[in-house]
Formats: sequence, C-alpha cells, structure tokens
Amino acid sequence: MLADAFNRPVKDLRISVTDRCNFRCTYCMPLDEYEWINKKEILTFEEITRIAKLFIERGVEKIRLTGGEPLVRQDLHLLIAKLANLEGLKDLCLTTNGALLANQVGALAGAGLKRVNVSIDTLDGDKFKRMTKRGDLDKVLEGIFAAQAAGLAPIKLNAVVERGVNDDDILPLVEFSRANGFATRFIEYMDVGNSNNWTSAKLVAKKQIIETIHSRYPLREVGRDQGSAPSVDFEFIDGQGDVGVIASVTEPFCSSCTRARITADGKFVTCLFSDVGHDLKAKLRSGASDEEIADFIAKIWSARADRYSADRLAALNSSNYDPKSHKKIEMISLGG
Ligand code: SAM
Repeated sequence: MLADAFNRPVKDLRISVTDRCNFRCTYCMPLDEYEWINKKEILTFEEITRIAKLFIERGVEKIRLTGGEPLVRQDLHLLIAKLANLEGLKDLCLTTNGALLANQVGALAGAGLKRVNVSIDTLDGDKFKRMTKRGDLDKVLEGIFAAQAAGLAPIKLNAVVERGVNDDDILPLVEFSRANGFATRFIEYMDVGNSNNWTSAKLVAKKQIIETIHSRYPLREVGRDQGSAPSVDFEFIDGQGDVGVIASVTEPFCSSCTRARITADGKFVTCLFSDVGHDLKAKLRSGASDEEIADFIAKIWSARADRYSADRLAALNSSNYDPKSHKKIEMISLGG
C-alpha cells in the first residue's frame, strides 16, 4: 500500500477537468480577469484516464471530477464513460454548480455516473446572483431535479456558509433538502486561493451550524463516511435524512486525509492549500512508461507531509495567522 510520511494511504483522487468556470463565486475566485490555462496544456480524456488507472493501481478507490466547472468541459460524458469502466474503481462522482446539469445529465447518467454533488449556497435568487456573480438559481434547481429524475443518488448539496451573507440560509437549505430527499453538506468558509479576502470573522464554525440545525431538527452524529470523508455527518432523529458539515478550519481532518488532486493541466497536488504542483503531464508527454509514471507518483506521495489545516488552526488559536502569508494554487485551477 502506498502511504505518505504520516502513514496516510492514497484513496481518493480529485481531478479538475478544466479551470474555466461560468460562475465567479465571491468566496472562491471572484476575479473577472484571470490567467486561464492554455487549451493545449489541458489534459486530454485519454491522459486523464491513464493517470486515473495508475492511481487506482496504487490504492485509489474513489474519483471525483471537479474544476473550475466540470460541465463546461466539452463532452464530459465521454470521460465519464472511460473512467466508469476502470477496474477497481468503487465510486465515481462529480461536483458541479449545476447550471448546465439539466442539459447534460442524461448523457452523464448514460455514461455511468451514479451520483452528483451540486453547490448551492442559498435559495434566494437575488442573493444567489450576488454570491455567484453570474449564476441563475432557477437553472441550478432545474439541474438538481433533472439529476433526481435521471436516477442519480444520493444527490448531495454543497453550501459554503459565510457570516453575514448566507448564514440565514442554513435552515431553508435544510428544509429544502429534507422535503426533496437531498443531503446538504455545509462547508466552513475556507481561505482557499488568494482572491477571496478570507478572514476568520467571515467563518461560521461547524459548532454553530450544527446548533442552528439541531435546535429546529434534532440530530444524532454518525461520523465520517469510511472514517476519512471530509464531512462529519449527522442524521435527523425523525428519520428524514441526513446532513453534514465539512469543518476544515475548526476541526481539521489532515490526519485522515487520503486525497490526491490533479489540476486541469496535469499537476499532481497533495493538499488543497498547496502552493506546488508536480508535473505529471510533462512525464506523460515525454513518453514515460506506466512504470516510470507510477514511480513518480509513489515518490511524491511517500514524501507527502502536508497538514495545512491543522497548522492553520494552531496559528489561528495563537492569533498568529495571516492567510495572505502563504500563496496557494487558486481553487478554480486546483479543483475543489
Ligand atoms: N464548479 C464546481 C462547483 O461549484 O461545485 C466545482 C468546483 S468548486 C471550486 C468545488 C467546491 O468548492 C464547491 O462546493 C464550492 O462551494 C467549494 N468552495 C469554493 N470556495 C470555497 C471556500 N472559500 N470555502 C469553502 N468551500 C469553497
């Protein structure tokens, strides 16, 4: 088994299929102008599939496609079809903002996609527009219900909670999920990238999110899926589904992090908050054999000693944290 410096195996692979996005979420990458990756540097579906296969042979069981916005990548269903056929892969999913989902979900499901996470931070159309700068809530809702009609399950909704912006949307989102059979995962606002002007004052901690929900819909903690999922899950005591919180800031889970990431231009990154990517694409395009690429992956993973969120919490607790002191790869490039 391939394990890193803290004995963490590699089990999950997040692949960004494009850095382009049709939204400009204020908490993610709000800039209208950005240095986009040149199209010829973007991994082809064949290259992605080859990398995925090598990771699966080293222990990866789950692949999530992300971005940027993965559905702006043309013909994504063709990639889904290739990945869904890989032997040993137990779970293939997609994180999307949902805006293009209604049109594509038939092809995606037909190609073998079983489930989807859709990001939706509010059910108020005006606020949705303000938070995403370009999004149309009705389109996203249409996408979510189209995914449900196509039989994708479970459908999880991701909601970043930002103090003073959408903390009053927690209960409406819970009620929407409970009424329609979705499962919401609230995400603590993180200092991803370099453009969102994160401060700890904008954070709503997991404790407060759970108290808000529990006071209206009592909860029982069930823990992390497989012991290593980012979300701590809770079920509703009345049996009406579940909800979770991803608390990377206040309850970091670096010690159980088994996630590797591949950027759209083929960099292998070992932490969401990393400032370095290891150039897998250069290896691939220089004609390296599978064995040479697998050795490259193994060398990087075995040296991995990232624990960014754990260190950030220690620094926050000693009032010694400056999010701008560390330049990170932008999440839109890295993939969330
Ligand atoms: N475009 C797709 C989407 O919107 O789901 C996939 C990429 S997006 C970067 C992946 C996830 O990262 C989304 O659920 C988004 O809400 C989350 N995210 C982005 N910026 C974040 C931040 N500052 N804190 C917490 N989560 C964030």
